[in-house]
Amino acid sequence: MSERINISEVFGKNVFNESVMRERLPKSVFKKLKQTIENGAELDPSIADVVAHAMKDWAIERGATHYTHWFQPLTGVTAEKHDSFISAPGPDGKVIMEFSGKELIKGEADASSFPSGGLRATFEARGYTAWDCTSPAFLREDAIGVTLCIPTAFCSYKGEALDQKTPLLRSMQAINDQALRILRLFGNHTSTRVVPSVGPEQEYFLVDREKYLKRKDLIYTGRTLFGAMPPKGQELDDHYYGAIQERIGSFMNEVNQELWKLGVTAKTQHNEAAPAQHELAPIYAQVNLAVDHNQMIMETLKKVAERHGLTCLLHEKPFAGVNGSGKHNNWSLTTDDGVNLLNPGDTPHENVQFLLVLACILKAVDVHADLLRESASDVGNDSRLGGNEAPPAIISVFLGDQLEDVINQLCDTGEATHSKQGGTLKTGVAMLPDLDQDVTDRNRTSPFAFTNNKFEFRMVGSSDSVAPSNVVLNTIVAEAFKEAADELEKADDFQMAVHDLIKKLFSEHRRIIFNGNGYSSAWVKEAEKRGLPNISCMVEAIPALTTEKAVKLFETFHVYTRAELESRAEVEYDSYSKIIHIEALTMTNIAGKQIIPAIIRYTARLADSMAKVQSVCPEADTSVQRDLLIEASARLGEIKAAHKKLVELQEECRSIRSAKERAHACRERLVPAMEELRRPVDLLERIVDKDLWPMPSYGDLLFEV
Ligand code: ADP
Ligand code: MG
Repeated sequence: MSERINISEVFGKNVFNESVMRERLPKSVFKKLKQTIENGAELDPSIADVVAHAMKDWAIERGATHYTHWFQPLTGVTAEKHDSFISAPGPDGKVIMEFSGKELIKGEADASSFPSGGLRATFEARGYTAWDCTSPAFLREDAIGVTLCIPTAFCSYKGEALDQKTPLLRSMQAINDQALRILRLFGNHTSTRVVPSVGPEQEYFLVDREKYLKRKDLIYTGRTLFGAMPPKGQELDDHYYGAIQERIGSFMNEVNQELWKLGVTAKTQHNEAAPAQHELAPIYAQVNLAVDHNQMIMETLKKVAERHGLTCLLHEKPFAGVNGSGKHNNWSLTTDDGVNLLNPGDTPHENVQFLLVLACILKAVDVHADLLRESASDVGNDSRLGGNEAPPAIISVFLGDQLEDVINQLCDTGEATHSKQGGTLKTGVAMLPDLDQDVTDRNRTSPFAFTNNKFEFRMVGSSDSVAPSNVVLNTIVAEAFKEAADELEKADDFQMAVHDLIKKLFSEHRRIIFNGNGYSSAWVKEAEKRGLPNISCMVEAIPALTTEKAVKLFETFHVYTRAELESRAEVEYDSYSKIIHIEALTMTNIAGKQIIPAIIRYTARLADSMAKVQSVCPEADTSVQRDLLIEASARLGEIKAAHKKLVELQEECRSIRSAKERAHACRERLVPAMEELRRPVDLLERIVDKDLWPMPSYGDLLFEV
């Protein structure tokens, strides 16, 4: 039985949050800081010393020994360097502990050791981390002790963004400015801020740690590179929402407690579709916080898993042939006084502001589908998207019956006169309550689905940061808002102009709406007819970052400069090649050092058996051993040939100088060669004695957790 806890006692215990600040900071300082946090006012550096002092005292009282600037470089994971609070030896052999405003506000990190895509040469090392006061500092408790973590942005000596946070904060500024213009047009003069709210649902796998440690592929690449399907997969649908096993339950319990202490609103947990797969969703928060919290969720899942003898796999496709993991990014726009711009109300046909917002979002997604697709690209997601379990690689928008009907009315007759309503669902059982039926069904196959009062972008990979997708979403919608506001602000007759604009936008961008089955091959053909891009993989997606359209978009809203975009493209090409190379190397290592020797042992065992049987009983039938021996030897030959080819190709690809060409060569030559090596190995796994197979099988990993 796990320890019982009181959520309200532990929640936010390790966060330097508003109530701690109110208690510990002088009133004037608290007020100034709150202005920056809540209203985006410029940070007053003169308050830094006072805040730093209060933060240090609070942290030390709770056992903290170190502080760190916690940031999100372009490596996909977070980075930190710990400094203790000791500043000097004091009198009487004691120490002086200090933490200054300067140390809070600014840190220095060696920028050349993080991916910069050419923005920083190795000798130009200086980079800075800058305190992001909009995301509260927190205490992390683990084997190292207690560490004060200060969320920061990371930029180069010249100010170029080298992280995920800086562009995200810039994009929040952009959408705030433009969304307020739209609100003002509709007579709203009370809201002072519009902030994107995001709730990322995190999927993950848990496997037994001892078994994990026997698989070099999982250790080095986070996914299995070989593996035959077990007799049972997920066809019975018995895992989704299934009862949670004790061992997993106790893991989830500890994860929740850790997250609650960090102020993360862990809310929903359940078993997912694949065996050994689970999900955790927090309550949505403003996007900057949601991004940080998602990183904390991923770190916590990994750390706590180890304490339970488990390993958490965040890879998008850890097991071929089994459902992969994603991260549904639920996104909406909310004002500081609580209005959700994506709330259609009961009669959306009359809600003109909502219809304009919706029309702008459709336009944004249609015009910049390539950028959204790119934002969800990572190497792991290449194996997941389009795999009949995850959204296809084609971006489309699901709106559901009610909204599609309103749009059809508008486009076909020029006027929307009614909104379909949900009915009452009769259960047919007297003892059960009748249920209010939603106006619209769900569609799990859509990559970008409207769900009640938010859009759910379902393409993002499970291991990826949600920052890039939200940077794109915020900026493309800001652009559509800007273009609408530019037009409407100068209209003589606002009512008429807005009606015409909504109709025009819906008519022009209707092609992006698709309510049908996104997994079907018919949709691929239909999408092609509509001219929607179908970008199959990461290396094909990266060019979207540097088109003239993208540069204009991001420069207009000061989210990325051209140089920053070019550097990000370079980083992505380079990391693509590196990851594929690690996978290829791991494969050749496993095949050469573990699989080939195992098969040789197996063939020897068969040959021995034949010889022994025949020596005892010459007329006995040894054709089974013989057939197996022939098959195994033939496959062994295939493995050896594929192994040799893969080693040679790695050499060739590595020698290509251009990051882009190297990435293409990896995609077009190495990836298929890896498949070629995998095929005969997986076939052999099905026949070779279990005690000879050098690693745990899919069945062992997925069903014996
Ligand atoms: P699903 O049924 O889609 O799996 P979940 O409950 O697992 O739904 O997750 C939905 C996520 O969407 C949660 O993180 C939730 O807080 C978030 N969410 C709900 N409303 C909004 C909103 N208005 N804006 C952004 N996110 C939201
Ligand atoms: Mg969910």
